Formats: sequence, C-alpha cells, structure tokens
Amino acid sequence: MTERGESTPPSRAVAPQRVLFRWECRCRQPPVLLATYDARGRIHIKARDRYWHVQGIVQTVCPRCGSEHALDLRRGSRISIPSPRPRGGVTGSG
Ligand SMILES: [Zn+2]
Repeated sequence: MTERGESTPPSRAVAPQRVLFRWECRCRQPPVLLATYDARGRIHIKARDRYWHVQGIVQTVCPRCGSEHALDLRRGSRISIPSPRPRGGVTGSG
C-alpha cells in the first residue's frame, strides 16, 4: 500500500486575494520591478535578504533611470489596477 502524507482538505477554496500586482518602472524592457502589492493594499518590497511589508504610501527611486515613483495604497482610495494594454500600442513619451 502506498501512503501519501499530503492530503489537503477541500474545505477552503482558493483565496482570490493572493494575486500580486507588479509595481514597476517602464523605462526599459523588461520593466524594472520596484515592488509588488496585493489587492489588500499591502506592498511587498524585497531588499537584499529581507522582505518588507508596507501599508499606505511608499516612495522609491528607480535604480535604472533614477526617476522617483510613489505608490499610494491607502485605505479609502481604491486601488487602481493597471489594465493590461494590448501589445504594439505606443503611447506618450518617456
Ligand atoms: Zn526607471
């Protein structure tokens, strides 16, 4: 008889809040990843061997182009999820 120690109870469904969004600077391709954030408004920043969890506003400077970025995920303000743009579209000037 084979015995498997892994058995997940089908009680809980997959949490839909586990999606992480990328906060990135698009100064180049591929875009420079600044941080990630989830739908709850928590920002995840990886710095060296540490992982920071920030709530509210966070500002950082792109290590590539040096431009400053601000991410505002305060409560009350709805998170503006960047909609995926179709490829091939050229908008604005950097
Ligand atoms: Zn940049």
